[in-house]
Amino acid sequence: MNAPTSIAAAVAPRPGPPLWLLAEVTYRCPLHCVFCYNPVDFARHEQELSTADWLRVLREGRELGAVQCGFSGGEPLLRDDLEELVAEAHRLGYYTNLLTSGVGLTPQRARALKEAGLDHVQLSFQDSTKEVNDFLSHTKTFELKRRVAALIKEQGWPMVMNVVLHRLNIDHIDPIIALADELGAEYVELANTQYYSWAFLNREQLLPTREQLQRAEAVTDAWRAKLGERMKLFFVAPDYHEGRAKKCVNGWGNMFITVTPDGDVLPCHTAKMLPGLSFPNVRESSLRAAWYDSKGFNRYRGTGWMKEPCASCEHKEQDLGGCRCQAYLIARDAEAADPVCAKSPHHHLVQEAVQRVESGAAAPVREQPLVFRDPGNSRRLSEALKG
Ligand code: SF4
Ligand code: SF4
Repeated sequence: MNAPTSIAAAVAPRPGPPLWLLAEVTYRCPLHCVFCYNPVDFARHEQELSTADWLRVLREGRELGAVQCGFSGGEPLLRDDLEELVAEAHRLGYYTNLLTSGVGLTPQRARALKEAGLDHVQLSFQDSTKEVNDFLSHTKTFELKRRVAALIKEQGWPMVMNVVLHRLNIDHIDPIIALADELGAEYVELANTQYYSWAFLNREQLLPTREQLQRAEAVTDAWRAKLGERMKLFFVAPDYHEGRAKKCVNGWGNMFITVTPDGDVLPCHTAKMLPGLSFPNVRESSLRAAWYDSKGFNRYRGTGWMKEPCASCEHKEQDLGGCRCQAYLIARDAEAADPVCAKSPHHHLVQEAVQRVESGAAAPVREQPLVFRDPGNSRRLSEALKG
C-alpha cells in the first residue's frame, strides 16, 4: 500500500470521542439472511468475550465518551447475560438500543430487559409476507416477529422497524409500510441493501433496477403524506445507482466504535476485511488506546490518506471518499475513491453491475441460488478465500 499518512497523521487534529459504542455481542444467529452484514468468515470467530470482558468494555466506552450503546450481533438475545449487560450500560448512563430479529424475545425477557433499563428496540422484518420473510431468512419467523412487535408496544418501547430492501422485496414496499402501520411502528427504516459481506456475494440477485427504486421512493412519499407525524419513514437510498459516495459510518473513526464478539475493536463492522490493517483486541488493549492510538483507527481518518481523484476533490470533506470496504471489494484497492462515485476510475464496474440488472442479464434466483448466511457456508467460503 502507499503510505501517505505519516505527515498527515502528524498534523491531523486529535479526534473527538466516539458517540456510539456498537457491541456485537455474538455472531450466532438463528436466521440466515442473504444480505447479512456479518463478515463472511464469521464462523472462524467463535471465541466470544465473557460477561466480565463486556462489562469492562461498557465501562471503558462510557469513560471514552460514548453515550449511545447498541447491542447487536448476530442475534444478541442468544446471550444469556444480555439483561446484565443492558443493566450495566443503563447504570453507566448510556442510551441503550437492542437490534434484534425478535427471536428469543419472550414476554419474560422483554420484562427483564425493560427492568434493566433498555431504552429502545429495533426489530427487523424481511418482508410483509410470511413466504418472502421466511424464504429470505431461511427460517419460519414471520409470525414470531409479529408477536414480538406486540410485546415491544406492550413494554412501552418506541416501535422501530427495520426492513432491508432489495430486488426480491422492494416491490412490496406498499404492504411493508402498511404492515408497519398495522403494528403501530413509530419509526421505519427502509434501508436499501449495502453490498458488503453476504449481500456482496448475492449482489447479482439482490440489486434492484432504477425503476424499482423510483417506484419505492414514490410509494414511500405517498405514505409520508398520508401518515404525517404518526410514523417517521426513513428511506435509505442505495449508492450504486446514484453516482455519489456516502460518508461511510459518518467518517472512519469519527462516530462509531465497534467491538466484535471476539473482542476486536473496529471503526466499522466490516473493516477487518481490509488487507494490511490490524486492529486491537479488548483482551490486550483499552478502548481509549484503540480509538486514539491504534494504526487501524488512524489509517483512514480525515482526508490525509487520500489519493486522486479524492485528494483534490471539492466533495472530500463531505463524503470522505466514501466507503473503504466498498473500494476494496470492487476496486481491490482500499485507498481508491469509492467506486460508486462517478469520478472513480473504477465506476464502470458499478455501472456494469447495475446495467446487468437493467438489461435483464443478471441471473435470477432460480438460475443462481442465493448464498444463505450460515456457519457451513461461512466455513466453506473462509477456506476458499484462504486458498
Ligand atoms: S442480518 Fe439476519 S442473519 Fe445476519 S445477524 Fe441479522 S438477523 Fe442474523
Ligand atoms: S472523488 Fe472522492 S471525494 Fe470526490 S466525490 Fe468521489 S469519492 Fe467523494
